[in-house]
Amino acid sequence: MTIAERVPLSSLTTFKVGGEARYVLTCESIEDIQTALAFTRERGLPFVVLGEGSNVLPSDDGYPGTILLMRMRGISEVEQGDDLLVTAGAGESWEDLVRYAASKEWWGVENLAGIPGTVGAAPVQNIGAYGMELAHMLDHVEAFDTKDGVLKSFDTSGCGFGYRDSRFKHEPALIITSVTLRLQKNGTPRIDYADLRAAAAEGKDLSSPSAIGTTVREVRSRKFPDLREYGTAGSFFKNPILSHEEYELLTKRYQTEAEALGGIPSFPLDGNVKIPLAFILDKLLGLRGYEHGTTFLFGNQPLVLVAKPGATASDVEALAHDIEERVHDATGITIEREVRFVSAHEAK
Ligand code: NAP
Repeated sequence: MTIAERVPLSSLTTFKVGGEARYVLTCESIEDIQTALAFTRERGLPFVVLGEGSNVLPSDDGYPGTILLMRMRGISEVEQGDDLLVTAGAGESWEDLVRYAASKEWWGVENLAGIPGTVGAAPVQNIGAYGMELAHMLDHVEAFDTKDGVLKSFDTSGCGFGYRDSRFKHEPALIITSVTLRLQKNGTPRIDYADLRAAAAEGKDLSSPSAIGTTVREVRSRKFPDLREYGTAGSFFKNPILSHEEYELLTKRYQTEAEALGGIPSFPLDGNVKIPLAFILDKLLGLRGYEHGTTFLFGNQPLVLVAKPGATASDVEALAHDIEERVHDATGITIEREVRFVSAHEAK
């Protein structure tokens, strides 16, 4: 384990904002995690776990405890007939794992290409894209339980998965150390999402895991600002899930716009409907590219909040709050954040 003191959180997060972390403890093994926890407890400090920091907004006041930086590496596989059980350390990059699978033309994670973040972060919010989510191809997760110091295994049913949700999001005492996926040697492309159908219509190759990965990366890159210039954590909010009654009310409220636009898009989800928030922000509220001081909504995907150089976490917070209020005032919907706030307040 390596120890660093007073590290700017802007260097550990893709938003590139935030104050200093008191300590950053880099963990390359389970033993390192144990050492880091002992270090944290000896000083009576709180801790948070970070991977690539691609889904967090750190406070300008910094973090008064320890950041456990997950850097456990390694990818290995075991064949089971036509399946492959592929295990990756929590500190591997998710994208590297997807590329590894694509290099062997194994099926299962190709639609999840280009998602930033570590392997260990993937189960926390049950990452998903283009009709696939982690829960579909997960075999099990190993996590270190900081309450009793025991390494535990959770199969898919034990992970409490929901839409961009899992038990790990609500139980910070569980530190994910590795993830095992069940991939396949044979498979068929899943390209029923409009973006992928459009890519197929343009003649893009979607016939193999590697080709799908390449196309998905191309599509996604258009919707993501250049991280060399800006800070962002990608989609800042979750797509709202409404009851059928709430959806009808929304459609009535925006009857003229809905008729002109061919209806408000909706997708069934567990007896409710999922609404693309980008549609609400763009088509109903006219907020595509909306600027708010040093921050803005990305022109090609308004769900993506962007920080210009020099922006602070408070600036991002102000934009997020502004959007939450506007959506609520206009539609009655309370939107939820996907991005996690890391602050002294959270540490208490
Ligand atoms: P998009 O493809 O424009 O879709 C917007 C919304 O409509 C999403 O809620 C999506 O559901 C839903 N949707 C679209 N076509 C659908 C279909 N055929 N069946 C069911 N639902 C459908 O979204 P985007 O913002 O450009 O993002 C592209 C993909 O990356 C999406 O799948 C999105 O969820 C995913 N993404 C995931 C994360 C994450 O895991 N944290 C972050 C950013 C984007 P789904 O959300 O269920 O796909």
